[in-house]
Amino acid sequence: MAGPSLKARIKAGAIRFVRGMKFPKEIRRNCPWCGKHTIHSVALYKRGKERAGSWGARRQAGRKRGYGGQKFPELIRTAKTTKKATLRLKCKECNREMMTYGIRLRKAEIAA
Ligand SMILES: [Zn+2]
Repeated sequence: MAGPSLKARIKAGAIRFVRGMKFPKEIRRNCPWCGKHTIHSVALYKRGKERAGSWGARRQAGRKRGYGGQKFPELIRTAKTTKKATLRLKCKECNREMMTYGIRLRKAEIAA
């Protein structure tokens, strides 16, 4: 790929906001483990399911117990209209995965 990267263009202010974006299924970029440019498969990162028994969840359950339980205001309306899209890149040579920076997008999709 020629020219400055998407990250560099966003940083420089050339791109302020991206409405929607299609990502290629495969991308050629440097693999830090292989030490060279290899082909990576692209997938969208999705947040995992939260554990009900995690310390944060148990602490919050204890706070909410009894009379007047909620300890901080619940978020009702968010100011943001976009979500950050993070890409999961998997090197086809060493099968290691890495994630990219998140960019704000209304809609992110991987080209079929
Ligand atoms: Zn690799």
